[in-house]
Amino acid sequence: MLHPKADVGRLYIPRKDGGRGLIDVETAFKTATIGLDHYLKHKEGQYPNQVLEHERSKAKNSISKNATKFKREVTMPEIQNREDKSASENAKALKHVSKMNNLKGETEGLLVAAQDQAINTRNYQKVICGQQVESKCRMCSQHEETVDHIVSGCEVLAKTEYISRHNNAAAYLHWSICKDHDIEVANKWYEHEPETVMHNKDNNITIMWDMPVNTDRTTTANKPDIIVKDSVNATCKLIDTTVPSDRNIAPKETE
Ligand SMILES: [Zn+2]
Repeated sequence: MLHPKADVGRLYIPRKDGGRGLIDVETAFKTATIGLDHYLKHKEGQYPNQVLEHERSKAKNSISKNATKFKREVTMPEIQNREDKSASENAKALKHVSKMNNLKGETEGLLVAAQDQAINTRNYQKVICGQQVESKCRMCSQHEETVDHIVSGCEVLAKTEYISRHNNAAAYLHWSICKDHDIEVANKWYEHEPETVMHNKDNNITIMWDMPVNTDRTTTANKPDIIVKDSVNATCKLIDTTVPSDRNIAPKETE
């Protein structure tokens, strides 16, 4: 599913690199030729050998010559992986992408289009399509209605949508932590309602939700989303989540 406004070039970028992983016809032809050449070279028997000899004697469009040329042009994943020392890194990235595979085609298409900044925002209508329309945000009428603004910059959405998004992300984290400590939780993360204080079976792990922390200095941010207290190892983890847009990551990390 390609969103009508999404970037076409991105279709052919491998999924692990954030593309949609389609194979274009040219690459398919090249990989098929390389495969055929490999087959002819390694298959025992009278006929493959004859074909190979015949192909090698050809000046033009010879399978073996083309294959040698194509091998330089196409990066076949199996060749790449063998040479790639960071293959485990790739696997990690793939695992991440496989989550995207659970999405419906339409949903993934829309997400990718939004990442391309190519959905039908007012700013897009005016600046890219050149239409005579109001380009300010439909919610706040203060800023340009861009993807970036809708996702993380709108004061009107901040009061409702951003808070529930943040709470959902934190609740998912809370649900995963509870599961890690064998605390009974709902099957689905979105059915999980975090309790203020939860204990594990041995009573040595306490997980607190949205609990204020007494500090020796006055601070406005004294309420981390999650606190994990481990009385065996005498540790206490304070976890606070934020859903920043790319341009906000640096300031949020210092927070
Ligand atoms: Zn707005």
